[in-house]
Amino acid sequence: MNQVNAARLRDARQDVVEVFRRVHARGWIAATDGNASVLIDDHIVATPTGIHKGYMQPNDLIIVDRHGRVVEGERRPSSEIEMHLAVYEQRPDVRAVLHAHPTHCIALSLAGVRLDACLLPEVVLTFGSIPTVPYTTPTTQEVPDEVRRWVRDYDALLLERHGSLTMGADIFDAYNKLERMEHVAEIVFRARLMGPVQSLTCEQISKLQHVVRALGLPDRPLLDSPCSRGNNESSGQDIDALVHRVKAQLSRI
Ligand SMILES: [Zn+2]
Repeated sequence: MNQVNAARLRDARQDVVEVFRRVHARGWIAATDGNASVLIDDHIVATPTGIHKGYMQPNDLIIVDRHGRVVEGERRPSSEIEMHLAVYEQRPDVRAVLHAHPTHCIALSLAGVRLDACLLPEVVLTFGSIPTVPYTTPTTQEVPDEVRRWVRDYDALLLERHGSLTMGADIFDAYNKLERMEHVAEIVFRARLMGPVQSLTCEQISKLQHVVRALGLPDRPLLDSPCSRGNNESSGQDIDALVHRVKAQLSRI
């Protein structure tokens, strides 16, 4: 391993520890829940099994290869490492994967409430949709097999009765997606306490999709949209102004 990669692996260990401190502080894991990984060339920094992720030290993390075999560290990898390997196999653009048990996401999943309706503009712009991945038996091959079907198109998955799976260019990107996903779940939860929740209209979604294309954001298929595919062109006159406003907002994030 060259010195540059050795330094990147060291940084990745610290970043994962920092991210899990935040995840634990927000209450999105309990005890030994959750796992994360960061891919650096053919090495993967991964959280081990059987340890409280909120109180880890950088040296607690292990390094595995692309087959999940330990190449550095004393501890064993999580049984869910296969889920991470499936993501890296399907998504060459992804460099980090984060799995947690966020409260509102799981509560909605238990109640049969999905997050794939087009309710909030920032979700359409960033995720397209947040799909619910059908329940699979933990620790079995069912989990990576099902995840493999969904990760090609989406960065944030709600694993039914289980938790979240988010991914990105680095572990903080994956964390930000978890934060946004759980925030959306909490908003949906609170809104539904007050009554029925309405989807964005087809025209509103069409405008957002126009913005997605104008900004060069990934054009994700919408899972539960009132628009039929192929009928998504906006008739609005103010797209340029809308794109300008969204660009200005994104630049402030
Ligand atoms: Zn889990």
